[in-house]
Amino acid sequence: MSGRILIAGGGLAGAATAAGLAQAGVPVTLIERETGPVDKICGEFLSHEAQASLARLGFDVNSLGGHSIDHLVLVRGNASITTRLPFTGLGLTRKTLDEALLAHAQSAGAVITRGLTITNVSVENNITVDIAGQTSLTAATLFLATGKHELRGLRRDVRQPHDLVGFKMYFRLTPQNQAALAHKIALILFNDGYAGLQMVEDHQANLCLLTSRTRLQQLGGKWQALLMDLCCDSPYLARILAGAEELLAQPLTIYRVPYGYIHRPAATDSAHIFRLGDQAGVIPSFTGDGMAIALHSAALAVDMFTRGGDASAYHRRLSGDISGQIKRAGWLYGLASSPYLQRLIFSGMQMFPASLRMAARLTRVPVKSQL
Ligand SMILES: Cc1cc2nc3c(=O)[nH]c(=O)nc-3n(C[C@H](O)[C@H](O)[C@H](O)COP(=O)(O)OP(=O)(O)OC[C@H]3O[C@@H](n4cnc5c(N)ncnc54)[C@H](O)[C@@H]3O)c2cc1C
Repeated sequence: MSGRILIAGGGLAGAATAAGLAQAGVPVTLIERETGPVDKICGEFLSHEAQASLARLGFDVNSLGGHSIDHLVLVRGNASITTRLPFTGLGLTRKTLDEALLAHAQSAGAVITRGLTITNVSVENNITVDIAGQTSLTAATLFLATGKHELRGLRRDVRQPHDLVGFKMYFRLTPQNQAALAHKIALILFNDGYAGLQMVEDHQANLCLLTSRTRLQQLGGKWQALLMDLCCDSPYLARILAGAEELLAQPLTIYRVPYGYIHRPAATDSAHIFRLGDQAGVIPSFTGDGMAIALHSAALAVDMFTRGGDASAYHRRLSGDISGQIKRAGWLYGLASSPYLQRLIFSGMQMFPASLRMAARLTRVPVKSQL
C-alpha cells in the first residue's frame, strides 16, 4: 500500500523506527509533542540488548558519556548481595539518548516534526491522524509509539494496572558515595515496591522507585516524606543519599503503569497500524529491559514492513518474542511483592548468587529473537 507513513511519538521506539525506515529508503514523518529535550521517568539502565539494537542502527551510544554498569547490588533491609551482571549495561539519561537518536533518524532522512500533539486516530479507508491546532493528516501506515500515553481511537486494552506510583529524581552524591555506587546498579527492595539507584552521565545519580499509593497517601502524598520513610526502611539508601543534593525542582512521577500488558492482535485491528514499545508490551521496570523491547519492536517492525509484511503478522511475531520475558518478569515481581516470599527469595539468592544472574538473563529479549 503506498501513501504517507507516519510515526506517532519520538521516544526510543519511534526514533529507532524512523531511523530504520529512513535507512531503508522509506520516506517517513515522525510527530513528537515535545518541542525539545525533556527528562523522562525511567531508571535509565540501558541493557546490553538495547545497546546492540542501537549499534545495528549505526548509532554510537558510547559517545554520549554514559556510565558503564557491570555489577548488581540487591538490597533488602540491612542485607545486600553483590554480583557481577552477565552483561555490561549503561547508565544514560533519556534526555540525552532520545534526543541523539532523533537526530540520528533525521540525519538518515526522516522528517522529524516537534511540538505537535496527536489528539485522535480514526481508521476507515485511510488512517486519519488529528493534530491539536492543525489540519488532520491521512496516512497509509501508522507506527504507534506514544509509549505510556494512550491515544484516543487506539487505546491499549489494559486490565487492572498495578496500584503503584513511580518517582524519579537525580541527585549529586558526595564524592565518596559516587565512588561507592560507581559501575553498580542497586536494586533496593521494600515491602511495597522497589528502587533502582545508579550513576548516569555528568556524575549524576538516578533514583527511580515504585511504591504503593497507600504508603504515599499515609505520608500525605509528599515526596520528601516518602524519601525519608524509604531511607528509614533502607540503611543502604540512607547511606548513599547522605549529603546528596536533589537536582530536579520536583521529582517526575507516574501512576498505574500497566506492567504485564502485551498487545494481542484482534481480527478487527487495522493491518496498517504497528504498535511499538510500551504500546506493544510493558515489562516490569526492575528488569531494566523496557528500552530493549522498544528497540526490538522498532527493528522488527522496520524489517517486516519493508518486506511487505502487515501489522497482524508483526504483532504475532513480536508477542511471541517478548511474551515469555514479560511473563517471567511479572511472575518474579509477583513473588517479590509478598514480604514473606521476598525474604525467602532473598535468602535463597544470598546462598546462590548465581540465581540472581539467572533471573537477570531470564528477563532479557531472547537472543534468538534479536534482529
Ligand atoms: C518507573 C520506570 C522505570 C523504568 N526503568 C527502565 C530502565 O531502567 N531501563 C529500561 O530499559 N526501561 C525502563 N523503563 C521502561 C522504559 O522507560 C520504556 O519501556 C520505554 O521508554 C518505552 O519507549 P517508547 O518509545 O515506547 O515510549 P516513550 O519513551 O514513553 O516515548 C513516547 C513518546 O511519544 C510522545 N508522545 C506521547 N503522546 C503523544 C502524542 N499524543 N502526540 C505526539 N507525541 C506523543 C512522548 O512525548 C514521548 O516522546 C522504565 C519504566 C518506568 C515506568
